[in-house]
Amino acid sequence: MENVDEFLLNGANAARAGNRDEAWRWLAKVVRTDPTNESAWLWMATLHDDPAKAAACLSRVLVINPDNTEAQAALFELRMKAGGEVLARPSEPAPDEAPVVAVSHLRRLYQVGGQSVRAVDGVTMDIWPGRMTAVIGRSGSGKTTFLNLIAGLDQPTEGEILIDGTDLVQMSENDRLRLRRDRLGFVFQTFGLIPLLSARENIEVPLRMRHVPRTQREKKSSELLEWVGLADRARHRPYELSGGEQQRVAIARALANAPQLVLADEPTGQLDTQTGGQIRSLLRRLVDEQGITILIVSHDPAVRMDADVVHELRDGKLVSTTWRTRREEEAAAAAPA
Ligand code: ADP
Ligand code: MG
Repeated sequence: MENVDEFLLNGANAARAGNRDEAWRWLAKVVRTDPTNESAWLWMATLHDDPAKAAACLSRVLVINPDNTEAQAALFELRMKAGGEVLARPSEPAPDEAPVVAVSHLRRLYQVGGQSVRAVDGVTMDIWPGRMTAVIGRSGSGKTTFLNLIAGLDQPTEGEILIDGTDLVQMSENDRLRLRRDRLGFVFQTFGLIPLLSARENIEVPLRMRHVPRTQREKKSSELLEWVGLADRARHRPYELSGGEQQRVAIARALANAPQLVLADEPTGQLDTQTGGQIRSLLRRLVDEQGITILIVSHDPAVRMDADVVHELRDGKLVSTTWRTRREEEAAAAAPA
């Protein structure tokens, strides 16, 4: 963490001196290593002209620590300037928005040795665009089953899944295949990279499946390698990469087809806390900077902090839904005036 302190100091100094770009670079390094660094987010808030973006940084602080009085005060000031409006984005859905995925009364029963297991037991849930949605719950609560149903990899026993208004259950297997190939991106706990292919080649697999010409493929994979911070690892095979690096390649691969929705099953499950934090903040940046929609299922309570909305499953049932904006409002209301 020694580096983090140094980066933070450099960032703060640059911010004080009015060198925004430099400050941004240092502070981004801090939050990439330690996404829960409150000071870094506070400094980042000062670098934005756009009040909504500043508010988003301050909201991060309050999600990490609802008692941070500096963030409370700054957010209060921003809201006053904006006439009391809630600025933080993304937030609860607006009336004119439509969900990317609408799941209703979803049920998946398994028959095992004459007994029936209710893996997903009557779940109704909407997934909204441009947000990070987290489904959390203990091991065995039905998270993977739920994700596989949305991906069209498994068929529900009952219920409906609308993707962009189209009923997934009624689709032909071919259409489901095309949906997965063209509109969904996948990130798994075990990375799922092809061992014989380089990082770049792995990223290009989905592009090859769509017969994207070579020059375009290379351009795209270079961009993505850059984005996930692995430009210097393009020729490495998976076994020549650390777990965190492999997961970053997997994320780049998931993004290759510019998917409408990225589905991630325990993406930090095999990583240590710090590396897991880096992967989580990378996923968060995809939402904040590129407006990507992410559905992440995890038993890691840390994902609560990142997500715009958290759904909790217990024994296949949805037991709670909590919006980040709601949590922040509660935190702000609890704060001294
Ligand atoms: P999670 O991802 O939250 O750990 P899963 O969705 O993998 O949970 O599993 C939910 C429940 O369904 C568990 O009790 C599990 O044992 C059961 N289950 C999952 N897949 C199958 C299967 N193919 N056959 C029978 N039971 C299954
Ligand atoms: Mg699972």
